[in-house]
Amino acid sequence: MKKNISIVMSLIMMLGIVFTNTIPAKAYVMYCSGSVIGGRHDMLALGRGIVRVNGVTIFSNGSAYQCQACKEVIVTENNAVETSGETVGPLGRYATWNPGFWMSLGTATVNVSHINTTSSTSIEGYRFRNRGYN
Ligand SMILES: [Zn+2]
Repeated sequence: MKKNISIVMSLIMMLGIVFTNTIPAKAYVMYCSGSVIGGRHDMLALGRGIVRVNGVTIFSNGSAYQCQACKEVIVTENNAVETSGETVGPLGRYATWNPGFWMSLGTATVNVSHINTTSSTSIEGYRFRNRGYN
């Protein structure tokens, strides 16, 4: 019996070594193809954002961002980036869209069929930043 236990323990230790060697220390979910920041979208500010649902304007004073890896655009109802001394509140309603090209700076309009809402100050899988901030 004691020998069996030591065999089992040896197997567990061997498995431990195998898993330690094959699984990356920091496993993460890939939200964005081409992401170089731990699988997340790297959303850089574009300017003001307008969200329309099937052509009807839902809000027109939001904040627009574009992912620097996959070109996805997100427009949030409330500002998503924290700049010096500024507190970020709930992001509110938001919409995502991938135009497949780089948007020019200024006002970005997204026309979608579905929007989301969050009471959080962040969205999982997204990192927001202003120009001039890393
Ligand atoms: Zn992305």
